[in-house]
Amino acid sequence: MLRSTLLAAARSQGVRRLVEANPLTKPVVKRFVAGTTPEDAVSATRALRDQGMHVTLDHLGEDTLDAQQADDTVRAYQRMLSVLKAEGLADRAEVSVKLSAVGQFLPTDGEKIALENARLICEAAADAGTTVTLDMEDHTTTDSTLGILRDLRVDFPWTGAVLQAYLHRTEQDCRDLATEGSRVRLCKGAYSEPASVAYQDKAEVDRSYVRCLKILMEGAGYPMVASHDPRMVSIATDLAARAGRDADSFEYQMLYGIRAEEQRRIAAEGGKLRVYVAYGDEWYGYFMRRLAERPANLVFFLRSLITQ
Ligand code: FAD
Repeated sequence: MLRSTLLAAARSQGVRRLVEANPLTKPVVKRFVAGTTPEDAVSATRALRDQGMHVTLDHLGEDTLDAQQADDTVRAYQRMLSVLKAEGLADRAEVSVKLSAVGQFLPTDGEKIALENARLICEAAADAGTTVTLDMEDHTTTDSTLGILRDLRVDFPWTGAVLQAYLHRTEQDCRDLATEGSRVRLCKGAYSEPASVAYQDKAEVDRSYVRCLKILMEGAGYPMVASHDPRMVSIATDLAARAGRDADSFEYQMLYGIRAEEQRRIAAEGGKLRVYVAYGDEWYGYFMRRLAERPANLVFFLRSLITQ
């Protein structure tokens, strides 16, 4: 109930204006968002690199209905990738892109524009010597996003996919994508989805996550285990060992600001750990999804508003 209310608020312009206008929100946002500029993102990347970790950088933004804004997002990624290259960090950091930030929802030719824009970002990533992963948004975009992924992979076979274990369809998508060289990030899923397409019960989502993990680990691709759940992390470790995978044939992924100690532990023990680092001004939707994932975050947020 609380989760779905927060996820509905994540798409409400009214609540957005209220939350963004409150100056006391900023310090809480900082826990999850690494800053606003490419330089902030690069400095977070450097700090994580120094602790033995890898990074995927997300220039925040989503759901744009403005072609100019989509172009600006492409330019922001190109700029950030050139800074990464110049700083010698491209071997440690790739980028994550939301197709809705680069035009997928534009009323005319949205999908075509998103593909062209994503292609520009892939070209900049290739020039910098790194890769791109396409984030997955709500279920209405899954077919379109996987279609664009297929097109991009013709020229950029390293383009990563994201699959969400809460969707009923995802086991089959895992089978389809567990092919040689295919980078697939498996997460539980962060949006509010109807029962017609998604498991509603946490235990069911967890069981689906394990089934999907098994398919990916036994397949020929490169699984990216995106979860902070200690049970999922430990099952992934066991499944990888059983499938005879060595430490660099899969990776763990977690979000910036969440379970940082566990991130350091995995990296220190020789696991490949990638941190998803979000930065930029358009933090509202991302921040609200983080609040929805854990009621304690909301309490922390509300308390900070009251006590500051
Ligand atoms: P949960 O069962 O939700 O949490 C397990 C434990 O992790 C909790 O008990 C708590 O200790 C900790 N935890 C989890 N979330 C939080 C939080 N917000 N704050 C504090 N502690 C927390 N979702 C998408 O729909 N599309 C994407 O493209 C996408 N990309 C992602 C990329 C990465 C690298 C990661 C890690 C997640 C991504 N997600 C994405 C979010 C994901 O779907 C989940 O919503 C999120 O990771 C919480 O699920 P969990 O697996 O950590 O397990």
